[in-house]
Amino acid sequence: MSAAAVTAGAELQAFAAELYPICRSITGAGVRKTLQLINRRIELDWHEVPSGTKVFDWEVPLEWNIKDAWVSDPDGRRVVDFNAHNLHILNYSEPVNTVLPLGELKARLYSIPAHEDWIPYRTSYYRRQWGFCMRHRELLKLRQGKYQVVVDSSLAPGSLTYAECVLPGRAREEVLFFTHICHPSLANDNTSGMAIATALAAWIAGAPRRYSYRLVFAPGTIGSLCWLQRNQRRLGRVRHGLVLGLLGDPAPFTYKRSRRGDCEIDRVAEYVTRDIDPQARVIPFEPYGYDERQFCSPGFNLPIGRLTRSVNDGYAEYHSSADNLTLVSASQLEQSFEACKQLVEVLESNRRYINLSPKGEPRLGKRGLYGAVGGRSPADRERAMLWVLNQSDGSASLLDIAQRSGMGFPAISLVADELEKAALLRVADETEPTRTFAISASRKRALSQPRNEAQSRSTRRKRPDLRSTRRRK
Ligand code: ZN
Repeated sequence: MSAAAVTAGAELQAFAAELYPICRSITGAGVRKTLQLINRRIELDWHEVPSGTKVFDWEVPLEWNIKDAWVSDPDGRRVVDFNAHNLHILNYSEPVNTVLPLGELKARLYSIPAHEDWIPYRTSYYRRQWGFCMRHRELLKLRQGKYQVVVDSSLAPGSLTYAECVLPGRAREEVLFFTHICHPSLANDNTSGMAIATALAAWIAGAPRRYSYRLVFAPGTIGSLCWLQRNQRRLGRVRHGLVLGLLGDPAPFTYKRSRRGDCEIDRVAEYVTRDIDPQARVIPFEPYGYDERQFCSPGFNLPIGRLTRSVNDGYAEYHSSADNLTLVSASQLEQSFEACKQLVEVLESNRRYINLSPKGEPRLGKRGLYGAVGGRSPADRERAMLWVLNQSDGSASLLDIAQRSGMGFPAISLVADELEKAALLRVADETEPTRTFAISASRKRALSQPRNEAQSRSTRRKRPDLRSTRRRK
């Protein structure tokens, strides 16, 4: 791996480490603190959804915040202390201050008998209760007697917070990335996803793009449902999407297909992950997992897949204190980031073309299209051109051609550019330009002409309509 790659991985790891200690939940100060850290790196639009808001079949719960929590034994010694690890509290525990015997307390304690030194991660968002999570080894040591329990938390009307980074491109069609931001100190699940989505947004913003990009940072389940509810009228713009999470552990990539199963994102993700690592797995859609469950519910059925390394519940440390920063290496994060970048590159240039000289092979030599370029042999370049010309009847995408020819996508994409410049190809599937819905007919005519770079750049800077409830930080 190059020095630059190690640096990018180290940066991702450092950001994951910065996010790791925060006590997050589906609402409250931890989520906002997390978004503030992300907002230092990329520009976010903030949204607050008030407690009690109906969201399809769900409702935004009361906002949860916590200051302190502990259990002390009959000698007054703290045997469980939220300050030592924020997984010790059952997430969303209601406030309590009471004394009770060990027998009653035990019904409120969670541990993992198979891993005595790990603290489990447990939540109770929609059933009001309190509880503690602890190492099984410590639980076994508790003696009979009266225990004091204090949970200094609050459950009060407030709001659910989510944020998004919107990066307009030449087309109004969007690529959506979603990552969940509700887990407290768990590194792979999901500081890895947050760090990579943040870095990806910064990287996408660094160049003009064909598609518009939207990176959503929201609590799991209720957060994606809030986003879906507030964006229902624009869901037709979502051309491709990916849920990101679990991207730092040592397992090879797992790509989970969209519910449709045959979307462009399914093919591109399979190609890119296997190109980077032949061990990469592709699994069919199932209605269990992360927020793809919502995006791919039958009422939406969006072209959205999921990229992880391990799958949720598919590694021993999952939802325990052993999912810590030692599980997440710089090189694994770097490789996952690379996969996301390559995925964007392929989506950006994966077009269908029409051969404008389809009767016989066009003479490449008289157009100056022979000769080594970029270190490739003339034979490979010519072969790639012949493949693109032969297959470009408007039905095959460049990815189809890369796979049929066995040549890499970058080589196929590069010669397609050259052939288009030489007027031997034209694009068959131009995407809809940004904001055509809001502009005059004459401007529409102007936009339908080939546009120069300056026009593209100025269009990129325009931000789309945003909801009245959003708040800019
Ligand atoms: Zn999780």
